[in-house]
This record gives sequence, C-alpha cells and structure tokens, in this order.
Amino acid sequence: MQKQTIIVTGGCGYIGSHTAVALQQAGYNVVIFDCCVNSTPETLDRITEITGVRPDFEHVDLTDALATHNAFEKHPHACGVIHFAALKAVGESVAQPVRYYRNNLTSLLNVLNMMVELNIPNIVFSSSATVYGNPTELPATEQTPLQPATSPYGQTKLMAEQIIRDTVAAHPNMHAVLLRYFNPIGAHPSGKIGELPNGVPNNLMPYILQVAAGWREKLNVFGNDYQTPDGFCVRDYIDINDLVDAHIAALQYMSHQENNIDVFNIGTGHGLSVMEIIRAFENATGVKIKYEIAPRRAGDVPAIYACANLAQEKLGWCAKIPVTETMKSAWLWQQNISDKKQG
Ligand code: UDP
Repeated sequence: MQKQTIIVTGGCGYIGSHTAVALQQAGYNVVIFDCCVNSTPETLDRITEITGVRPDFEHVDLTDALATHNAFEKHPHACGVIHFAALKAVGESVAQPVRYYRNNLTSLLNVLNMMVELNIPNIVFSSSATVYGNPTELPATEQTPLQPATSPYGQTKLMAEQIIRDTVAAHPNMHAVLLRYFNPIGAHPSGKIGELPNGVPNNLMPYILQVAAGWREKLNVFGNDYQTPDGFCVRDYIDINDLVDAHIAALQYMSHQENNIDVFNIGTGHGLSVMEIIRAFENATGVKIKYEIAPRRAGDVPAIYACANLAQEKLGWCAKIPVTETMKSAWLWQQNISDKKQG
C-alpha cells in the first residue's frame, strides 16, 4: 500500500522533529517544511539516524506566499499537514508584536491557502494551554472558557484557532484537530533530538538542564508564595514522546472524524510544582540543581493542569511515560549537546 504523505511544518524544531520520527515509525511518508530560523537542518541527519529514513525537506519561509506555493506544489498528494512552524517566546512576542503576528498568522494563512488550492483535507494544529489564561476551573477542560491573551504569542494561538475554525466551516471537505499542549518536556530516548533553545532559556526544563550541565550558575525559581500546595507554580508537564503520539492518534481519528473540527487538551491530567520538577530531576539523575527564590515572573498563572479525558475517549490517547523517564531522556540529550559544545 502507498504510504500517506504528511507535511510537517517546523519539522526541524523541538516538537516537529519528534513528530517526524513518530510519523515515520507509524508508516507515514514525512515532508518537512522549515526555514530553520530557530532550528537547524542538522536535525534531518538526527531523524535519519533514528529511523533510517531521511525525511523529504523543503527549505521554505512560510510567510512568503510564492515560496509556500512552490513548496506545496511539489507535494500535491499530501493527505495532511501538521502545522508547528511558529515563533514561541512569550517575552519576545511582547517586545516584537508585529514580527509575531506577521510570522505566526501569515504562515498559517499561506498554509491554509495552499491546502484549499490543492485539496489537502487534514490539518493538525499546535495550540496551547495559554488560551485558558488563568483558568476559571481546574483541571482545565476543552469547555473551560478561553481568556483574553496576555501576550501577542498567546493571541496568535487564539487567532489561529479561529482562522482554522472559519476555514473548515467554509470548506466542508476539510478537517482540523486543534491540540492544546500543556508543558512539553523531555527528549527522544536516544538522546539524538531534543529542545535546543536560543540564548537564555525562557522555559523551566531547559533552564534546569543548563544549570545541571554547568552552563548556568543557578536557577531562579519565580515565586514561592502562590496559593498552591507548596507555594510554587503548578503546571502539567507532558513528555514529548507522549505528546507526539497524540498527533498520530489525531491523524488516525481524522479518517473517521464526524465533526469538521475537534479540540483536545494534551496533558497528563496532573499538576507538578516547580519544586517537584527540580526534585524529580535530582532524583532521576543524581545531579543537584542550585536554585534561588526570585520574584514572581509577570504573566505567570499560579496553577494550570489539564483534564485530558476527551483525548482518551475520542483519540484513545493518554500520557504514559513516568516523569523519571522524562528527566532521564532530557538529561541524556543535554549531555549530548554539552559534549558537542565542548568538542
Ligand atoms: N520557571 C521558573 N524559573 C525559570 C523558568 C520558569 O521558576 O527560569 C517557572 C515559571 O514561573 C512557571 C514554570 O516554571 O511556573 C513553567 O514555566 P515555563 O516558562 O517553562 O512554562 P509556562 O507554563 O510559563 O509556559
């Protein structure tokens, strides 16, 4: 049987690269579209090392309509797009709103335009738990009211969801699954691919890893006086390998999807505090993390974690990987990139 082709935009990035591996291993033909502004084409070599198959690759800036057109025209028989390509640094988006709106929304519009033109029916979109803001209830379900965004980054996710909703409403042959990710962490168990932040990491896990590797002196823990069980912020940290499996499940679901569009929370259903994450890392790896309590970070919500029952019910998906394993894969990846940096 002919393999189905999936276009993975942003496939050289953190989530995209793990998804490309999982797709290949699930029997799909993968085409990566990426301009590598925040990633590296070397990821293609790593994917090839893991799976034995080199994904097709188009070096394309998706904000460029003509370039997007030309890239899609080479793959007219693709049956779906998983759209990851986007800028994602919350603080940077506050400082550079025009760049964020232009990049994240223009690229989506160009992708959707080509999907309509070529009759590519399925899109899986990487949305975010940020759409719930400071949630009105916990755990957050897909019905939990959406909140006004607190950053241009968050606003691009809300707007992208609406753009996709309107597009599939106008084109009944199209199907969409919006996956609202909670906090993805960890790396492929081979340690060959993982998260590669530019400069000082914004996110907790890469920061912990860089402290553990001696790249940074200590972690600043943002706030210890929240109204949470131990006073630290609580998030739903989901292993990247579990998270990417949700995309495979979504594609399979789309072959018999009754609605034109569905939304799923992709989280574990359990919250962990910043201190619990530090301890989990230390217990899994034996490496101590030096930290200091720092003031709260503007815009952080005290607690958010998912109700992921809908994904379990409809996609047959749930998170399975214990946090100890996640910490080990993350550390293996960090050690690999530290060796390279030194070598
Ligand atoms: N955090 C921290 N120190 C850091 C980075 C993050 O204490 O250097 C905390 C942050 O306040 C939040 C949690 O770690 O409570 C997760 O932050 P992250 O930026 O990874 O994800 P977010 O949930 O904010 O998108």
